[in-house]
Amino acid sequence: MSRPPIDLRSDTVTRPTPAMRRAMAEAPVGDDVYREDPTVNALEARAAAWLGKESALFTPSGTMANQIAVGVHCRPGDELICAATSHVYVWEAGGIARLWGVTPRTFPGDGGLLTLAEIEDAVRPPDDPHTPNTRLVTLENTHNRGGGRVHPIAEVLAIAAWARDRGLALHLDGARLVNAVVASGVPAERWAEPFDTVSICFSKGLGAPVGSALAGSAETIAGARRLRKLLGGGMRQAGAIAAAALHALDNHVERIAEDHANARILAEAFAAAPGLALEFPTETNLVWATVDPELGTAADVAAVLKARGVLVSALGGQTLRACTHLDVSREDAERAAAEIRAIDPEAVAGRSRSL
Ligand SMILES: *Cc1c(COP(=O)(O)O)cnc(C)c1O
Repeated sequence: MSRPPIDLRSDTVTRPTPAMRRAMAEAPVGDDVYREDPTVNALEARAAAWLGKESALFTPSGTMANQIAVGVHCRPGDELICAATSHVYVWEAGGIARLWGVTPRTFPGDGGLLTLAEIEDAVRPPDDPHTPNTRLVTLENTHNRGGGRVHPIAEVLAIAAWARDRGLALHLDGARLVNAVVASGVPAERWAEPFDTVSICFSKGLGAPVGSALAGSAETIAGARRLRKLLGGGMRQAGAIAAAALHALDNHVERIAEDHANARILAEAFAAAPGLALEFPTETNLVWATVDPELGTAADVAAVLKARGVLVSALGGQTLRACTHLDVSREDAERAAAEIRAIDPEAVAGRSRSL
């Protein structure tokens, strides 16, 4: 008999629950480009309230929400400050340059968590015609490539105060803000407060099939709505998918704590397995581990785990990522952890030899 694999590759692989599908089927809808979809309107109001902002915009993806944010804050020739490992810079197809003519100024951060100390001299002289115009600071909380860790709030507030003083705009990529909220106990609106715009994602830990939102002032979001149309993101009876996001906000926020507990079970297994080590402490639902070259490559280890019914991502020669989410139960996490602890170095070596 074969059980379905335990899919830890990403927190985007979830399927809508039966209750979520019912909510989607029953949602009242209208044409959202005419602003006549009651479910989208309800979701946008809900997202704005959750984040303590005036207004919010439903977008098809987190990438579009982030790119719209860059577009509303920046003009061609502007520069944005972000972590070298940030999604907006690395994983959005170069959109900041292609779409908006914006150049990035990147810093390593503490595993991608920017510190004020490293950026405080980064603002270009405004009256120097040689330089780009420093315009925007983008933070990412939790930081994916930083092990899904929570950006310490004191550092966020210090960076925000510094940016305000210099007239810079601030955007938060909060694709996993809900994980930061649950892990820290700090409410979403407090995390969002210092930022002009905040993006959140419904199709990660919250388990909706599609969608993100961008929140900010009414004026900023009016501009964002125009850019969403420009990018082809104006949707019609989008209430059918917005209903899933509303259902997730109603039902899937508190349970994120289970994902975090399950991730700790996996983290302990990675830490205990010979030849594997945690790259970062595990604070939320992401586990990043490094593979000792003596054992093999990350791809070899992922292949051995796959043969044992556990899917993880090889995201670099020696780097593995495992994510917990709505479709990973405690029992799944324990079974996956047992397989990770039992990784057979001979099997990994055999993979390398057979290549
Ligand atoms: C997933 C993710 C996004 C958005 O991704 P989409 O796949 O476009 O929805 C943005 N930022 C971070 C940090 C992410 O992990």
